[in-house]
Amino acid sequence: MFESSLKQLGDALRAKKISSVELTQCYLDRMAQLNPQLNAFITINPEMSLAQAKAADARLAAGSADALTGIPIAQKDIFCAKDWLTTCGSKMLHNFVSPYDAHIISQFNNAGAINLGKTNMDEFAMGSSNETSYYGPVKNPWDTARVPGGSSGGTAAAVAARLCAAATGTDTGGSIRQPAALCGISGLKPTYGVCSRYGMIAFASSLDQAGPMGRSAEDLALMMNVMAGFDERDSTSLQRDKEDYTRDLNKPLTGLRIGLPKEFFAEGMGSDVAKAIEAAIAEYKKLGATIVDISLPNSKLSVPVYYVLAPAEASSNLSRFDGVRYGYRAPEYNDLADMYEKSRAQGFGAEVQRRIMIGTYVLSHGYYDAYYIKAQRIRRLIAQDFVEAYKHCDVIMGPTSPSTAFKLGEKGDDPVQMYLSDIYTIAVNLAGLPGMSIPCGFGDNDMPVGLQIIGNYFNEARMLNVAHQYQLATDWHSRAPKGI
Ligand code: GLN
Repeated sequence: MFESSLKQLGDALRAKKISSVELTQCYLDRMAQLNPQLNAFITINPEMSLAQAKAADARLAAGSADALTGIPIAQKDIFCAKDWLTTCGSKMLHNFVSPYDAHIISQFNNAGAINLGKTNMDEFAMGSSNETSYYGPVKNPWDTARVPGGSSGGTAAAVAARLCAAATGTDTGGSIRQPAALCGISGLKPTYGVCSRYGMIAFASSLDQAGPMGRSAEDLALMMNVMAGFDERDSTSLQRDKEDYTRDLNKPLTGLRIGLPKEFFAEGMGSDVAKAIEAAIAEYKKLGATIVDISLPNSKLSVPVYYVLAPAEASSNLSRFDGVRYGYRAPEYNDLADMYEKSRAQGFGAEVQRRIMIGTYVLSHGYYDAYYIKAQRIRRLIAQDFVEAYKHCDVIMGPTSPSTAFKLGEKGDDPVQMYLSDIYTIAVNLAGLPGMSIPCGFGDNDMPVGLQIIGNYFNEARMLNVAHQYQLATDWHSRAPKGI
């Protein structure tokens, strides 16, 4: 049952082969058994999950079920969920019980899905290894001495270990795709604006985007059908007609033009990763695709540009955490200013403080033009490279991450090494494009390798088709970690 797809689970529920309460209990039992070892969840609340399951069973009995009704889905702890502890991986929000639902959460509730728990994550989604979480690191189910990637590492580990059927993530610079790659699962970051950011705790608002993580492209498509949609409470949410993201899954790939950016295949990529990517490209040729050489000349600047812009936005967004209305407040202080200072110094971890300092610096008078404005200009050039590339190809492919999962602690004292984990993913966020990662083999340490598929704006259904056809022809996506 833990290997069933969302579609199979939905069919079983509607055919009354299993009830939602039974299914939810199965997952809760599995979590109780495996989560202590993986630390994939920050909050598990069986009572609330089972209450939702009961309601879903009533809906199933009444014959008014949707595709995901009764299916347990885990939620990244960045999404506010009414009456659930919502920490964003931070001590700053260790006591914050959300009084309202994020748009994404209400969409899942309306669909009748079960909130199975809140997954662990890097603090305020800043990180690539899940080691910055106040709640301790998440372990990679393929090798618990290794990181699951980040910042959606709890979600990636939970899906890979079959602790939930599918789950949500967010991606500001790679946080859906990179952990998906490192844990051997599939993940999709939609076009900026397709999923509402309302109630999703803000990191860098012009880059943040929610998306699904699951075991197959088909599952991601069903998740997208629930997650996507206009919401007037997010001013960057796009007003578009409702899409069925499963509509193109079964189209053949004949004539597909795959662009390979020469910059992605230069130095920097591990040779084991390169081997798996090359094999995946060969498989696509068999499926009828043709290869086009393209160039993204400015993509090499994406990491430095991101580490100006994302901290700038973060320093502004995180100014709301001041110990006054909610969240952590220092127990002892002299006056109001001292309360602010101590609450923020004690409530935020080292990586978050580093970003706030960088962001405040690049936004300060005298440096604003030199750093912030310059980075914004280069951001436009990076986006323009993709516009040029898509004149010659339909999708772009390359690695998701330069290496497979590294050891816990391996990059802990070197932030720049950690930042380079996202070298292939960040340009996609800067351009606002959709990107996904699917499993395509294993590297030297028997750790999963992810293939990145980048689409043009609003081409999610086509990308899911491209991924699904590969998953019909290969079985990398159905491999499970040993002992799980
Ligand atoms: N690893 C990147 C960072 O630390 C991206 C994080 C993300 O996408 N949320 O900022």
